[in-house]
Amino acid sequence: MKVGIYAGSFDPITLGHLDIIKRAARLTKRLIIAVLNNSAKKPAFSVEERVEMIRKVTKDIPGVEVMTYSGLTVDFAKEQNANVLVRGLRAVTDFEYELQIAQGNHKLNPDVDTVFLTTSVEYSYLSSSIVKEIASYGGDISQFVPEEVVQDVYDKLYKPKES
Ligand code: ADP
Repeated sequence: MKVGIYAGSFDPITLGHLDIIKRAARLTKRLIIAVLNNSAKKPAFSVEERVEMIRKVTKDIPGVEVMTYSGLTVDFAKEQNANVLVRGLRAVTDFEYELQIAQGNHKLNPDVDTVFLTTSVEYSYLSSSIVKEIASYGGDISQFVPEEVVQDVYDKLYKPKES
C-alpha cells in the first residue's frame, strides 16, 4: 500500500474532488490532500480557508490528511515519502494538460508515478470555477459542493445587492 498525494487548488472543494478523495483513499495507506499555496493563481479562498473546508468534509475518511505546500509537487512528494500522485480526469480536455504534467513530474522524480482516476459521470462537468460563478449570483450550489461547506462558499462569494 502506498502513500499518495492528491494536489490541487481546491478553490473550493467540490463533490467531484470529494469523490476522487474517497476512491483514492481506498487505494492508498495514507492520502495527503495537498493544497497548493500559489498566490499567482489569485484564489477566492485563502489557503487556510481551503484547508479548513477540506478538513471538515474528510474528517471521517480513514488515512486522509490535509496539508499545504508551495513549490514543486514532486519535491513535496519526496519530503512526505509519497510515491503516487493522484489526479482526477474529467474529459478529453483535461487529458493533454495532465499528460504533460505527469510526464514532466516523472522526469523530475522517477520514483513518483501519477495515477489518474476518471471522474464519476455525475461530476464530469463540475469545476471549482463553475461553483464560484453560480454562488456569486446566489444560485443553488448544494448539488455541487459538500453540504458542510455550502454556507462557507456563499459567505465568501454571494454579496446580494441592497434593494
Ligand atoms: P488544479 O489547479 O491543480 O487544476 P483543482 O483543484 O482544479 O486544481 O483540481 C485538482 C484535481 O482534481 C485535478 O486533477 C482535477 O482534474 C481534479 N478534478 C477537479 N474537478 C474534478 C471533478 N469534477 N471530477 C474529477 N476530478 C476533478
